[in-house]
Amino acid sequence: MSKPLHPDSIAAQALGWIDEATRAITPPIHVSSTYLRDPDNQYRSGRVYARADNPAYDQAEAVINTLEGGHQTLLFASGMAAATAVFQALQPGDHVLAPKVMYWSLRNWLMTFATGWGLQVELIDMTDPATVQAALRPGKTRLVWIETPANPLWSITDIAATASLAHEAGALLAVDSTVATPLLTQPLSLGADLVMHAATKYLNGHSDLIAGCLSTRADNEHWQRVRKVRAQVGGTLGSFEAWLLLRGLRTLHLRVRAACASAQRIAEHFDGHALVAEVLYPGLPGFPGHAIAARQMQGGFGGMMSIRAKHGEAAAIAVAAQTQLWKRATSLGGTESLIEHRASVEGAGTPAPADLLRLSVGIENTEDLIADLEQALAAAAAAVGAAPR
Ligand SMILES: *Cc1c(COP(=O)(O)O)cnc(C)c1O
Repeated sequence: MSKPLHPDSIAAQALGWIDEATRAITPPIHVSSTYLRDPDNQYRSGRVYARADNPAYDQAEAVINTLEGGHQTLLFASGMAAATAVFQALQPGDHVLAPKVMYWSLRNWLMTFATGWGLQVELIDMTDPATVQAALRPGKTRLVWIETPANPLWSITDIAATASLAHEAGALLAVDSTVATPLLTQPLSLGADLVMHAATKYLNGHSDLIAGCLSTRADNEHWQRVRKVRAQVGGTLGSFEAWLLLRGLRTLHLRVRAACASAQRIAEHFDGHALVAEVLYPGLPGFPGHAIAARQMQGGFGGMMSIRAKHGEAAAIAVAAQTQLWKRATSLGGTESLIEHRASVEGAGTPAPADLLRLSVGIENTEDLIADLEQALAAAAAAVGAAPR
């Protein structure tokens, strides 16, 4: 084919691979933990043991790698297994920069286990390039970790600007791009060295498995160590989960596009609402970072947003209690819309204001989602004794 395929076509056919042995359009689920050695003691299949090599991963890794424009992609047992592999591949004493606003569980691991193993982790405001530049220690900083849009405030970090600052200092740039998905942003093309996804979220999209992945722009010493971390530490995905992930990937473009369109409508509807103090969504023109997001996200601003209840924490918790269509649950990127009082999840040290509700917009009818939030906001205001104005 003369022209590279559109991402929609890559996703819909999962690259169009056909099983050689059976001509099946969907792949079999390979479950073997081990592979036959040749009589002359070689392993010509290239497979030895399923902790390191699993044919069940090949197609899903290839689809994600093609969508990200990477050199290679590896699946992991979870988003956290993928993210922590990036840090475990560093050396004690290495300095790393990470954002103050980021996925809370990784921030927590960084400030406990990673620092315990001798990494020097510094949390900074990644949205400000001057702060990043000042925090970089040339020759000492090995890695800059960013997340954009970042949980749970959806702060936007300029990937290209941060990549060039990191590279000038001799550091790698890794991006948690879970919320953007490879359809909206391709961080490697903007200069990032590594992209991580919680494939649990949009890539799979059906809230029925835990998985993660890493894609690299180039093969290098750090990537070789990442490969060893997966094979040796063993944060490997099950074969059935890899197969489910591939099935989910085939509709990635439809799901992400629907969620983006709905999120934009919902954000605009509740922006300035009498019972909403603030809507945090990169697609709103007044949102800090909107201009950068418009540059580095194509086709939408994602399906994640937060709203702040006008009458404080009790009102926020009451809104979540009153929704019916929006389900009260953590996680994101599924077909169903979720609502969550984020400060309750993150606990001490959270950047989430106490009145903040995190919304993962699914693919239900937009008007149904708006109506359910409207009734929940009104019922919550009545419950906390605040009449709508
Ligand atoms: C969920 C999530 C993770 C962690 O992924 P798991 O699969 O739950 O381990 C990391 N980063 C972001 C942005 C996430 O939403």
